[in-house]
Amino acid sequence: MMTTNIFDTLGNLPGVGKKTLNNLQTLGLFTQFDLLYYFPYRYDDLQELPLDAVVDGQKVVLKGLVVTDPVVGRFGYRKTRLTFKLKIDHDVIMVSFFNQPWLKKQLELGQEIAVYGKYNEPKQMLTGMKVMATKDQQNELAPIYSVNQHVKQKKITELVNLVLQNFPVLENVVPEFLRVKYHLLNETQIVVGMHRPKTMQISQLALRSAIFREFFLFQMQLQSTVQEASDETGVAKNYDESALTELANLLSFELSQDQKVVVREILADLKNPRVMNRLLQGDVGSGKTVVAVFAIFAVITAGYQAALMVPTEILAQQHYQKISALLGRVGVFVALITGSTSSAEKKQIYAGLKSGAINCVIGTHALIQDQVEFAKLGLIIIDEQHRFGVGQRATLRGKGDHPDVLAMTATPIPRTLALTVYGNMDISIIKTLPQGRLPIKSEWKTSGQLADVFLQMREQLEQGFQIYVVTPLIQESEQLDVENATDIFEKMSTQFGQHNHVALLHGQMKADEKEHIMAQFVAHQIDILVTTSVIEVGVDVQNANMMVIFDADRFGLSQLHQLRGRIGRGETQSYCVFIADPKTKSGKKRMDVVANTTDGFVLAEEDLKLRREGDLFGTKQSGLPEFKVGDVVTNFNTLVEAKKSAKLVLEQDPTLSNPEYQFLKQVLEYKNQDFEG
Ligand code: ADP
Ligand code: MG
Repeated sequence: MMTTNIFDTLGNLPGVGKKTLNNLQTLGLFTQFDLLYYFPYRYDDLQELPLDAVVDGQKVVLKGLVVTDPVVGRFGYRKTRLTFKLKIDHDVIMVSFFNQPWLKKQLELGQEIAVYGKYNEPKQMLTGMKVMATKDQQNELAPIYSVNQHVKQKKITELVNLVLQNFPVLENVVPEFLRVKYHLLNETQIVVGMHRPKTMQISQLALRSAIFREFFLFQMQLQSTVQEASDETGVAKNYDESALTELANLLSFELSQDQKVVVREILADLKNPRVMNRLLQGDVGSGKTVVAVFAIFAVITAGYQAALMVPTEILAQQHYQKISALLGRVGVFVALITGSTSSAEKKQIYAGLKSGAINCVIGTHALIQDQVEFAKLGLIIIDEQHRFGVGQRATLRGKGDHPDVLAMTATPIPRTLALTVYGNMDISIIKTLPQGRLPIKSEWKTSGQLADVFLQMREQLEQGFQIYVVTPLIQESEQLDVENATDIFEKMSTQFGQHNHVALLHGQMKADEKEHIMAQFVAHQIDILVTTSVIEVGVDVQNANMMVIFDADRFGLSQLHQLRGRIGRGETQSYCVFIADPKTKSGKKRMDVVANTTDGFVLAEEDLKLRREGDLFGTKQSGLPEFKVGDVVTNFNTLVEAKKSAKLVLEQDPTLSNPEYQFLKQVLEYKNQDFEG
């Protein structure tokens, strides 16, 4: 079937049944539009070279004759190696394929084949990655997409081909005057150049334009929704000062100096008829939640309702327990709404929010559903705000009449970056941790010192504490992440399994499975939690006082700091061990820095500095929105230009009524839908 609408479901494509559709959704692919902009993260250069032109370690296609029978050998744990000899002109090399035993059936003695792989010159051996039929007229650059266990490379490639055929010409997102000004490719050139580049140079040109396009779209989204909020003024909330004093007296501690300052800043915003749009930054455990409670209570005393949205169910529950316990004592009615709230309960909550009987609601994405309506929503608070899309935040905001907005993040974002990305927000910072908190003792160890680390772990376990073991992040493959985590899990089970309960949590588990394991860890039914870096930000397990991070040099400094923030939340001494064998000088420097600095802002600045020197890490968990092709640090200048451009477009045509902007408008509407982010 030929489809005409780019926003149509992928289910309309031939060969995409219900199962494939579900699988594609695990990659965030719902529509043809999604697929068109699901760019490869790298390309394999399938150029065929003569053997004497190949250098050691190069990835290359070699063509020759199979001159020995392929044999499959086994080694290690569940691993296989298929080997045969390949004659290339006068040379004979060895070819090995790991863990692809089925290839044996495709190979025959005497057959001419082309193999793509990595060449080891001293050993005259090719580690094969792909067998190619020699007749195939291959595209010289093979796109490699990020996939998971449910969807194969080949499937994505096929489907992209189909969608490219369906839409040979695309409308533009970036207006022509900007494309001219910045020498950018048009939409069709970007999409074709990213998916099917003829040369590396073309892919790079396409990437340059794709990055601008991505930043521009983000800024358009941000600025058009922000304008909506700040154009018209909101309402002043006349809160009850004496009630706030009463709340302060109920706390078992005194607010820190920074907390007091921030509470004052927020109260001033609330009283001001201008809509509040404030970002509260503070390290994990710095006490942002208490600040949020003051803001919530203030608007309630002024006759309004408040909503707190958090990214995961566990976090929602934790916040709910803490906040309802405290606010319950001053007569506030707090409700919790998540994906697992029963429908009967949901109905009651919907009614209570609509009538105003419920003053404050805490929840996950469930909060942005249509059925959630408020009598008088005056404040929304978004925790770990970078985990939500611009559209999701806007939807929640739309449930009130210009409500004040407080966004919170545990990741210190260097000021210049924060201002560039979220230019229209005011920023508050909590720098100091509450008194009486013991700083985490951090150490860098090499993998040769693992025995020491085990000893230290055992000591903590014997005292009844729990431990996080974090396994490396392998950007290119979720599959490798999981294999790695599984290996380490097995190691831990061997070491500790006899006396302690060890569990594994990884990114490819279903959401409810993850929640379940986290809940078990919270309840201390698990002693050691081995996890890929998916530990939910903000989850508070005070009894977990040790963290061991494997291959720590694979993480960004801010990320390591963020991870470390999971511990050190109780009153006992906590320990963080970074295991890494960095080879470069800057790698060693980074480990030294993170082991010796506990100030998140210092680390964030240091991270930026090192990254500018070419030490690259993705923006994941950096507290900034995750971009697909752009990087806010390396492409900082592009971000600045895209921001200016979006502003210009909106100034000239605030409603985007110009026919040229029609597609841009559609894309913005599409991106504002709820399932995004
Ligand atoms: P965040 O949300 O920034 O991660 P929380 O608000 O959850 O931090 O605070 C972490 C812990 O510190 C909580 O148990 C909280 O009750 C406690 N806490 C917050 N502020 C103070 C303070 N000023 N003095 C002592 N303890 C505090
Ligand atoms: Mg928090």
